Amino acid sequence: MKTDRFTSAYRFRIYPNTKQQRMLLVVLELCRRLYNYAVCQRKDTYKATGRTVHYEEQQNQLPQFKDQRPEYEQAHSQVLQDALRRVERAFTGFLEGRTRYPKYKKHGQCRSITFPQISNENIGSNSIILPKIGRVRMTKHRPIKGKPKTLTITLTKSGEWYTSITTELNPPNNNSNPRIIFNNPIGVDSGLVNYLYLSDGEHVDNPRFISNHAKRIIKAQKELSRKKRKVKRVVNVNGNSTTLKVPGSNWLKAKTILARRWRDYVNAKEDWQWKQANRLVNKHDFIGYENLPIRNMLKNHCLARAIQDAAWAGFWEKVESKAATAASTTTQKVPPQYTTQRCSKCGYKHKVALSERSFMCPNCGHFDDRDHNSSDVVLSDALQLYYKAFEKIVGMDVPEFTPAEIEPLPPNAEKPMMVASSIAETGNKFHTRVDEPGRGITRAEAHGFSNGRTSQPL
Ligand SMILES: [Zn+2]
Repeated sequence: MKTDRFTSAYRFRIYPNTKQQRMLLVVLELCRRLYNYAVCQRKDTYKATGRTVHYEEQQNQLPQFKDQRPEYEQAHSQVLQDALRRVERAFTGFLEGRTRYPKYKKHGQCRSITFPQISNENIGSNSIILPKIGRVRMTKHRPIKGKPKTLTITLTKSGEWYTSITTELNPPNNNSNPRIIFNNPIGVDSGLVNYLYLSDGEHVDNPRFISNHAKRIIKAQKELSRKKRKVKRVVNVNGNSTTLKVPGSNWLKAKTILARRWRDYVNAKEDWQWKQANRLVNKHDFIGYENLPIRNMLKNHCLARAIQDAAWAGFWEKVESKAATAASTTTQKVPPQYTTQRCSKCGYKHKVALSERSFMCPNCGHFDDRDHNSSDVVLSDALQLYYKAFEKIVGMDVPEFTPAEIEPLPPNAEKPMMVASSIAETGNKFHTRVDEPGRGITRAEAHGFSNGRTSQPL
């Protein structure tokens, strides 16, 4: 289902010069102090009076706060307002039970600032103009679509500067006419062996990026732990020499190297996921997938690392965002319960051990690859959910109509077609495939299985 708001985000690397870097670091530090001040004010007021301080109140106090601290003239006023808005978001998250109580940010923990209102004039062909900072060189590796809304500058832990620009797009005009016929619908089972198993039989192996990068990350982590974290240094404070404990330069270097190793791993994975998401959306007009309970799954300590590496939630977010802009692809989440235990032919439930790679139905004898059976179940569940939602939008009983009466069938009948009416008419809970005639090979045979019981053709 599509959402009403259409925003798109673009991330580009920027190269501020030494002076600009120094200015940006000063603004980051000022925002950190303001953030901590705002958190402290809320905390103290609540303790003393039981009253909650809100964003508007803190924003109104900002000019007075700036008068007392002339250094805040260096920061753009909207950037400071955004720092206060972050405090508001942190407290809202806590009050809604989603996050923990907001903490004070330590030195160096504030790594991004946001300019909440920018326009096309701020974005050049290979640079951006930041208020109070100036023109900063940028590698604009792709054109920006839509009207620019906000701009965020981030300093990564590996010491690189990036900008994220969000834009507002016109929504694709497809909500008025939801589709009911799909030429190439697909159900997707995500797992650790096969990252994706599509209901048309295609499967993508789990790339397991962590296993390729683990060695380098572990080595960098060991190097870091060997370095001295704090060193004593004599510094001059107001004419008096004092000994201070400061982070060691070798420790800082090792920390940057570790951050770079993690960056390489994340970049490789993200790139691969974007490519897979793009491929899925370009190829299929309906994608059903499981809404996996990742948090629960992580409780299994043996698999936690592999599950975190797989990052399915991030992958499906990418698919959703691609589908939203493509406008020709519909996505549908399904609850993950029993998708691996149900037979895709008769719906009979029976437990299959995780090590078992094939599925054999004790009720109807259906024999299939475990992931393939589950992807078929996901597809039929997704279509059912989609049609139910469709019923609400259009206000008609979906099983009653024949899609052919509403929309002519597409000419290429070679691809498997999903016919809405056949679901209800045959009384079968699950979808029916209309394949080309004369295709005698069973699905189990196609997968290299044969037990003599799966005689019915696909
Ligand atoms: Zn069965």
